[in-house]
Amino acid sequence: MEEELLRGATEPLLAWYRENKRDLPWRKERSFYSVLLSELMLQQTRVEAVKDRYTRFLERFPTAQSLAAASEDEVLKNWEGLGYYSRARNLWKAAKILAERGEPQTWVGVRALPGVGDYTAGAISSIALGLKEPAVDGNVLRILTRLFADGRNIDDAGTKKYFSDLLRKVFPPETGDFTEALMELGAIVCVPNGPPTCGACPWSGVCRAHLAGREAEFPVRSEKKARRIEMLDVFVLRHADLYAVRKRGEGLLAGLWEFPNSPSQLAPSGENQQLAPSEGNQQLAPSEEGGRGVGATFGEVLATKSAKHIFTHVEWRMTGYLIEAKERDPQFAWVSAGELRAHYAIPSAFRAFLAWLEE
Ligand code: SF4
Repeated sequence: MEEELLRGATEPLLAWYRENKRDLPWRKERSFYSVLLSELMLQQTRVEAVKDRYTRFLERFPTAQSLAAASEDEVLKNWEGLGYYSRARNLWKAAKILAERGEPQTWVGVRALPGVGDYTAGAISSIALGLKEPAVDGNVLRILTRLFADGRNIDDAGTKKYFSDLLRKVFPPETGDFTEALMELGAIVCVPNGPPTCGACPWSGVCRAHLAGREAEFPVRSEKKARRIEMLDVFVLRHADLYAVRKRGEGLLAGLWEFPNSPSQLAPSGENQQLAPSEGNQQLAPSEEGGRGVGATFGEVLATKSAKHIFTHVEWRMTGYLIEAKERDPQFAWVSAGELRAHYAIPSAFRAFLAWLEE
């Protein structure tokens, strides 16, 4: 029953896609490497934010070989501002594998690449390799649960498997277009935030949720957990026009450069235990009075400002201190503002404090 409904909905969806698809740069080239790049860039990131960055990255690293030959710092610098930097590192590792062993030809081979989960493996397999492998994410689950008025919880792993199996049974020969059409419908018609525009949907005549006026009831999902809040003191230390930076260790934003920082002494107890520690953090703890004591530790505080950055599961609430340092502490690298902007990948979380840097 479900299979028949979906099979019948396939051709209208493809026809709608051909007419209405957005003109996006990654839809022009369908090589394995370019699809891998676009899919990794688009994970957790809006299409608008990715568009220019995709084109620029591809100009800088046009092939897997050119990316494989780059240094990690170069790759991270070219990813700067996109966030979720583990994607850049995974892409770099995947490029090395492609350069060495060639492109995989099966879903299993694609899935084995670093940073590639079930969804991305399905997208690459269907778009770049022409395989009948579905890519099921939250967007696809939303449109399918609405099409079938299906009350399964989309946060259950079994739900994803159920719809993946169903899609596999009806996959048309235009594998890439089918995958992209499902994504596109979820992105511009049956949207995640706000009501769907059913009047523009190729499925409006068959969609069970729409026919019953129950679009808002689907998808069903578990309640989201609240983000953990972490309080941070961030120190922009300046000494004779050079600024202190250090490389982050393992954990969140690993391998990127940052201003020295430490969990704020004002943090609610127990809330910042999981902050990825960088070497030297212990020595940075300013004083029991929180940031107000930093003057005595590092030098004169010239300015302070607050900033916030939201990650998927964590929110950083930061207090920044611009400080004229008494000396150049050797535990940090000391670089000019120009060098910092040109060669050091600083995560967006610290962007608010870059405005303090004088060229
Ligand atoms: S008819 Fe409406 S609810 Fe159903 S799939 Fe289309 S946009 Fe979504």
